Amino acid sequence: MPPFDLFDETANRILSTNTYEEFRARLLESQCQRCPLGSHRTHIVVDRGNPAAKIVVIGEGPGRDEDAQGKAFVGRSGQLLDKILAAIGLDTNRDCLIVNVVKCRAVDEAGQNRPPQPAEADTCFPYLKHQIALCAPRVMLLLGATSLKYMDPARKDFSMAKEAGRFIALPDYPGIETMVLYHPAALLRNPNLKADMWEHVKILKKRLVELGVAKGVQHAAGSANS
Ligand code: SF4
Repeated sequence: MPPFDLFDETANRILSTNTYEEFRARLLESQCQRCPLGSHRTHIVVDRGNPAAKIVVIGEGPGRDEDAQGKAFVGRSGQLLDKILAAIGLDTNRDCLIVNVVKCRAVDEAGQNRPPQPAEADTCFPYLKHQIALCAPRVMLLLGATSLKYMDPARKDFSMAKEAGRFIALPDYPGIETMVLYHPAALLRNPNLKADMWEHVKILKKRLVELGVAKGVQHAAGSANS
């Protein structure tokens, strides 16, 4: 059951929804201003993909393109993510629901994307938790340090070089296989990470085949065992 706040009618109305479509509609119509990110955004970015999918992919927050279009992971990072997951047979719009820690774009003084502040992320986090509960995924993919930090608050002083490519246990999400991956934006900044990422998605593919989670994965060109 999501947390309720007697004095926060916006959140209560959104978090009392019982279906994903209802949640989505209420969040969008709320024009939520519960944290300061609400005042600068163009669109609340709820997601992209299929709420009935068994894989939920969790990123940091919307960037410029996502804010403009109101859809998650549609910019360069999103295109790269689509390509990486397509290589193991996943169609992100069919096989995944892609969401973020915060639903509104965070910008620095120069107008560039920045990670959300802890207070912003903590305020928005109940929406993400509710999304996950309504989707009931079999697998979660945490993209990058912000996603890992808020999904696993007990994990302190970690490095993505050590965590990326690993399956981890999250006490708050029992029964959901959770893997940490590099954020595609990190690959765009540092192409040297691409080889590691490919090794990681091969591990992911192998596990998805074992779990029987996504039909296209079994016959994808990229072999998990190669
Ligand atoms: S980031 Fe989340 S909590 Fe903050 S205004 Fe947007 S939807 Fe509301």
